[in-house]
Amino acid sequence: MFIEPSLGKTGKSGPKGQLEVICGSMFSGKTEELIRRLNRALIAKQRVEIFKPAIDKRYDENNVVSHNENIIRSTPVQFADDILLLAGNCDVVGIDEVQFFDAQIIPVVEQLANNGIRVIVAGLDMDFEGKPFEPMPQLLAIAEYVTKVHAICMKCGDLASYSFRLSGDKSKVMLGEKESYEARCRKCFYNL
Ligand SMILES: [Zn+2]
Repeated sequence: MFIEPSLGKTGKSGPKGQLEVICGSMFSGKTEELIRRLNRALIAKQRVEIFKPAIDKRYDENNVVSHNENIIRSTPVQFADDILLLAGNCDVVGIDEVQFFDAQIIPVVEQLANNGIRVIVAGLDMDFEGKPFEPMPQLLAIAEYVTKVHAICMKCGDLASYSFRLSGDKSKVMLGEKESYEARCRKCFYNL
């Protein structure tokens, strides 16, 4: 389990910004891990803001809801730059489903972290074809801390890193739940 090396608390030299990335396939518990860290920041009486792309309307409009229904209030935003405008006065910024933002999210999280904010982002690291999901590779590269969480393969019960799409739809972004995807290990994803 990830133990915070630092909660980004204000020290002699001011607040310490950093970027943490939580990545993995669908059903791997990314959002649960994001919520766990944000809840701990709230317990530490830090000011926390949570954002998600407005594209993800699977669940509630204004909440980050994980599959096991832990709820934290969040703000849907259309563009990455909106986060800079809205994050103003907080200690910790959480961003869920970060893979749905365009490349502008990279300078945005950099600026937040450089301004002394602890930024925690969660997102899919691969698309349904097993290819890196931009802009996650860039975020992984510039993060201080990276956590890859794993699901369980629906075929064989091993650890799973891939999101297998059950329908024939070829569009990259297809929001769906258990009926559209299943987690698979490498062997079962590629049918090796
Ligand atoms: Zn498997």
